[in-house]
Amino acid sequence: MFDYLIIGAGFAGSVLAERLASQLNKKVLIIDKRNHIAGNAFDHYNEEGILVHKYGPHIFHTNSRDVFDYLSNFTEWRPYEHRVLASVDGQLVPMPINLDTINKLYGLNLTAFEVEGFFQSVAEQVPEVRTSEDVVVSRVGRELYEKFFRNYTRKQWGMDPSELDKSVTSRVPVRSNRDDRYFTDTFQAMPKHGYTAMFEKLLSHPNIKIMLNTDYHEIVDVIPFRKMIFTGPVDEYFDFCYGKLPYRSLEFRHQTLEQEVHLPTAVVNFPNEHAYTRVTEFKYLTGQQHPKTSIVYEYPQAEGDPYYPVPKAENAALYRKYKKLADETPGVYFVGRLATYKYYNMDQVVAQALTLFKRFEDESRQKAELERVALNVNKKVRVLNGTKESTSKNGKH
Ligand code: FAD
Ligand code: UDP
Repeated sequence: MFDYLIIGAGFAGSVLAERLASQLNKKVLIIDKRNHIAGNAFDHYNEEGILVHKYGPHIFHTNSRDVFDYLSNFTEWRPYEHRVLASVDGQLVPMPINLDTINKLYGLNLTAFEVEGFFQSVAEQVPEVRTSEDVVVSRVGRELYEKFFRNYTRKQWGMDPSELDKSVTSRVPVRSNRDDRYFTDTFQAMPKHGYTAMFEKLLSHPNIKIMLNTDYHEIVDVIPFRKMIFTGPVDEYFDFCYGKLPYRSLEFRHQTLEQEVHLPTAVVNFPNEHAYTRVTEFKYLTGQQHPKTSIVYEYPQAEGDPYYPVPKAENAALYRKYKKLADETPGVYFVGRLATYKYYNMDQVVAQALTLFKRFEDESRQKAELERVALNVNKKVRVLNGTKESTSKNGKH
């Protein structure tokens, strides 16, 4: 009998498997329908021996020391700061939009102070910032919105930014300085030997059994377990009883080129040209030396593997109905990007899993305490009974 059956060997499932096995000595079976661990963070050496991310570029960044310290138990790190260029008006310019983006795009020589004034002069008044369009036009005006955000977002999400929650384009800041890093988090680094190697260490505990190529429907009624952790799509778990939650998908087209370097930076975004949104060259991320190079193009799709929950009020309302069902399902815990329908980065999923584990730990501590108290009470009752018995026996004499 397994203490826990965990569905999905991505960050959510693997972190919980590791904690339950190593800290609470639980017996865990973790399964995945794919033929590998690591979920969407899976990386592998391709046929040319270049380390690539099968499901698109995964760059680790976090402000949480707890998350960084926790993962550091399973990997060394390679310091890495991510940089992106956007192809706009025939030029490659820094993205997020910063001072250099504006100067290059318009052939200007503004200072940081002047560019802030420029943003303010073109920004549109928006009574309430609600949508992904509002976020951008209220900060940098319509022209920059059209050049950098509108078409990229329409491609990526299959809808206009005005239909999407503000949280989507809020992920990308606007800066008046020359900082051209994509992220500004305190901790920015890549697992030195890749994500899959880190997951192998996470899951290497003797209490953890791994079963791949297995959909949970195949085993849920066959393998005995006490509790379940589900990290797949929450609507699928409940047989889509309220209808399908929308997810956006991608097709990844990988290519290996007979040249050492292909792009001027790790990623180039194409807001306005092509059917793909961006191209990534993996060697920038991994630091690998190789005479050839591998890149990946991302083509957004309506159908396919569910990669992105779609942040939108009506989807949030539908998710709340599933969440209510999830909360009312005893012994099953829903965690991760798909099971909680949140556009989470890797570090946020690790934090979510660690928080759930804390709950398990507290419950287990409380249970142990109750058992200790019960044992003491039993002992006292036995002593008391013993005393009574001997008194009554003595009375007979
Ligand atoms: P997943 O990694 O999706 O794991 C869930 C697992 O459950 C999957 O392996 C799936 O096969 C399995 N599963 C589902 N249903 C079943 C079933 N019925 N039976 C058995 N198994 C099942 N985050 C960052 O921090 N930085 C980035 O740069 C970044 N880039 C990204 C780029 C792309 C293109 C995408 C799509 C995501 C990116 N992310 C990034 C987000 C990151 O991938 C997620 O935060 C993280 O992988 C979520 O982990 P998870 O365990 O919740 O889900
Ligand atoms: N975005 C955009 N233009 C860009 C980069 C991003 O319009 O050049 C918008 C787009 O809607 C995208 C969102 O900002 O989905 C978040 O971008 P991010 O790079 O965080 O996307 P992810 O890496 O999660 O796919």
